[in-house]
This record gives sequence, C-alpha cells and structure tokens, in this order.
Amino acid sequence: MIPINSILVYNTSEIVTPKGFTPSRGNAMKNTEITKNAAILIENGIITEIGNSDYMTDKYKNFDGITLDAGKKTVLPGFVDSHTHFIWGGYRENEFSWRLSGMSYMEIMKNGGGINSTVKMTRESTSENLYELGFKRLNSMLSFGVTTVEGKSGYGLDAETELKQLRVMKKLGENHPLDVVKTFMGAHAFPEEFKGKENAFVDLICEEFIPKISEEKIAEFCDVFCEENVFNAVQSEKILKTGKKYGLIPKIHSDEIKSVGGTELAVNIGAASADHLLNIKDEDIKLLSDSETIATLLPGTAFSLKENFAPARKLIDSGCAVALASDMNPGSCFTESVPLIISLATIYMKMSIEEVITALTLNGAAALRKEKITGSLEPGKFGDLIIINEDSYKFLNYHIGVNLVEKVIKKGQLVFSKGDNYVF
Ligand SMILES: [Zn+2]
Repeated sequence: MIPINSILVYNTSEIVTPKGFTPSRGNAMKNTEITKNAAILIENGIITEIGNSDYMTDKYKNFDGITLDAGKKTVLPGFVDSHTHFIWGGYRENEFSWRLSGMSYMEIMKNGGGINSTVKMTRESTSENLYELGFKRLNSMLSFGVTTVEGKSGYGLDAETELKQLRVMKKLGENHPLDVVKTFMGAHAFPEEFKGKENAFVDLICEEFIPKISEEKIAEFCDVFCEENVFNAVQSEKILKTGKKYGLIPKIHSDEIKSVGGTELAVNIGAASADHLLNIKDEDIKLLSDSETIATLLPGTAFSLKENFAPARKLIDSGCAVALASDMNPGSCFTESVPLIISLATIYMKMSIEEVITALTLNGAAALRKEKITGSLEPGKFGDLIIINEDSYKFLNYHIGVNLVEKVIKKGQLVFSKGDNYVF
C-alpha cells in the first residue's frame, strides 16, 4: 500500500454527507448536508477540517501531504455494506438458471443445489482458496465505493469451518484496505447431519461454537436466521443470549418470509440490527422505532427472489433508523452492486436519494456500531470517502445501474482510482 495518510481533496463541486455520531432516524434521514465548492483535509487517516475550497487551498498552501484536485466532482462518504455473506466456496450458477426456469426449491435441493451445496463446498475449500476468492470480492466492492464491509460465517455449520471462515475474514481485514467486520452466524441453517435433532444443533452452537469463537476473539457479532422452518424465536433467543454472554453483539435475520417473532426478540435483546423485514408487522415497526436497533433492508434479495420489497417508507415515517445493504451471498443474491441497491431503493421502495445515502453510510455504520468512527464526513471520523464522476450526487440514482465511483480514499489513502484500478 502507498503510505498516504494525509491528503487535501480540493475543488469539489460539493461534499454531501449525513451528519452526526449517532444513527439518523425517521424524517432526519433525508437531512444530508451539502457544501458546495468544498475541500476536505484528512491527517493521519482522520478528517480534521471541511470548508470552502478557495479558503482551504490558501490556508494549506504549504501542506506537505498529498493534494488531490477533485475536478469539480462530488465527494461522499464511503459506503458501508453492513450485511454480506462474502466468504464461501464454489458457485451455484446452474441453480440460478434452474430457479429462473421455475424449478421449486425442493427440486433444486434434489438436484444438489441449495445452501447445503455451499456448506459442502465451503467445508472442502482450503483457507487459501477462500482468501483468494474473498480478496477478489473485496476488490470489486471497493470499486463500487464500499470502504467498510461486514461478513458472516455460516457456510460451515461445524466449529472447524465456521472458524476457518472467520479467520479468513480476519486476514483479509489485515491485508486489504477495506475494514472487515466479522459476524459469527453458525445459526444460518441446520446441517444435514442434524435433521430431526435441531435442538441438539442449537446446544452445540451454544456449548461449543460460541465459546471457541469468543476464546479466539474472532467475531464482534452473532447472527441468527430466525424464520419458519429454520431457527424459531426460542432457539434464536437462546443462541443470541449465549453469544451476548460471551461478548458477541446480537444481530438477526428477521421477517424475511414469515413473521415469527424475530423483530420483537431483536428489540428485547438489544440487537444492533434486524435485517430483511419484508413481512414485518405494524406492531413490530412500532417496537423498532422506539429502540436502538437499526432496520437493515436488503432489496437485492427481494429483487432476485421476486419477493415484495420491505416497507421502507413506513419504517422511516414511523421513526426507524433504516440501513441498506447488499446481502451478497451465493444463493439468493449474488451481488455487491451498490448502484443496483440505490436503484431498487429509490424506484421501488419510495426512498429519496438523500435517505438512501444516509442508509448506505451513517446508518450502515450504526448497524455495525461504527457510527462514531465512520459513515459520515466530519472532523474526528476516518477519512473514508469517494469521488463520483459527476457534479451532483443526484446522478447516483438518475444514472440507473451505472457505477459512478472514480476514486476511493480509505483512512486518508487513495486505494482505488478508475483506470489505474487498485493502488494500494
Ligand atoms: Zn443474510
């Protein structure tokens, strides 16, 4: 990596950012701050000043760090993709065609597809292979302007492979410029060998997996797929409570297909986020809006599965703090495309582009409990920013499905530049 930690980015058309060190909720989500003709100073990786470009270039004319002319283009905070499953072995491209041709999930399973095929391929993958695939996927995310990503285990469903996934993510976080936040999700599915003995698998997670993961300090969060025919609310509560006892912050996959009590559990247990929420009940929206739990929506998955989108408008109008993420995974939604998420959220979910920016930055950071260090551009936070190839942030959704990211700066270092590609 080129050791550039202090940088002055000047001559921007505008700097656009949500503000604050706490999540932005409800009507406040649209209040992004726009500073025209601005400059931003990052010293030792941390933002120290934002102001008028002419004033700042004069004030820092003897600046000994790097100066970068933004060429009258727009600067935004780096995106935070707060929900992904980006470490897995193998691919399921045939299964995708089967699904689109109308094959049922049961038939797909019979044909050797489904999550169990990923579990098998991930168990068989070496750490080196998973690392290589992970590095490639992180590079792609970076090119879309993502500067912080969360990744979940959950394709091992045994202690050895769950730990393997988490260790690979740890190493990637050390060697790749993206910050990688690690979540243990052993409760992603029931492994085939525990068919009919589901509670025994829950016990194994609580008595073996979680203590091992905690001992190695290899994850920050613990997540559960709380859904009909997967982990019920009682099993989910047991796992998240055990995780909490061992220092893992709860997260939950909730209300994706049916509402089975996951969101109420999220609020009661103090989860950092409740994710999916396609079929959230009105009373649970009320509970979420009165809580600190972030409502994380994953429109790529709903799009890919042809499901109805989560009720973003209702959640925001009720005062919830909404985040958006990719849910990148090998089955239901293989994408890291931020432009796709932006298009779906603004065109189908009735979110304004300003709300979407907040959901992909400050509130994404809050879903990872990182809102005090990243997610917005203001003094005291990491210098994590992107420059897009337009003079207005409104092109982010106007120019449908196109990646406008020209440069990415992570903690004051230029790490991606279109044309030169990766420069770390
Ligand atoms: Zn997920």
